[in-house]
Amino acid sequence: MRNVEPDESDQHLQPDEQVVAQAHETAQAHETAQAHETAQAHGTIILDTPACTSCMLCVRECPVWCIELSSHTEQIDEPGSRRPRSVAVLDTFTIDWGLCMFCGICVEVCPFDALAWSPALQPSASAKSDLVAGIDALSIDR
Ligand code: SF4
Ligand code: SF4
Repeated sequence: MRNVEPDESDQHLQPDEQVVAQAHETAQAHETAQAHETAQAHGTIILDTPACTSCMLCVRECPVWCIELSSHTEQIDEPGSRRPRSVAVLDTFTIDWGLCMFCGICVEVCPFDALAWSPALQPSASAKSDLVAGIDALSIDR
């Protein structure tokens, strides 16, 4: 915790006002530390579906093979372009929390920042199949 010493701006305050000012500063420092811890928390992984290009890198790099995805290709006509452009469209994307080690490799390797840590904790489940999260569950804004 940060040592909160009265600074020069507190010098003109009465002793009780200095105590209040110091308490306020301490509370602010505590809130900042808590916000930092929350940002660092690795509770679960979320998916930014539009950002995912189905490149399969996370699927291949996951050490326990707990990510699966399927996609299809669509042709997109762009104004001024001589031929349509092929884009991969994500159909399914699942992470099996029953296998995941929360190592973070998938988050690190994704070239499009489509995966990110979220501080929200994974709820427990009574059946193993309920631990497999699909696009809807992974895309929830937590
Ligand atoms: S955190 Fe690790 S184990 Fe879990 S899905 Fe990502 S790469 Fe796989
Ligand atoms: S590495 Fe990123 S862009 Fe590639 S399939 Fe995984 S989440 Fe999608």
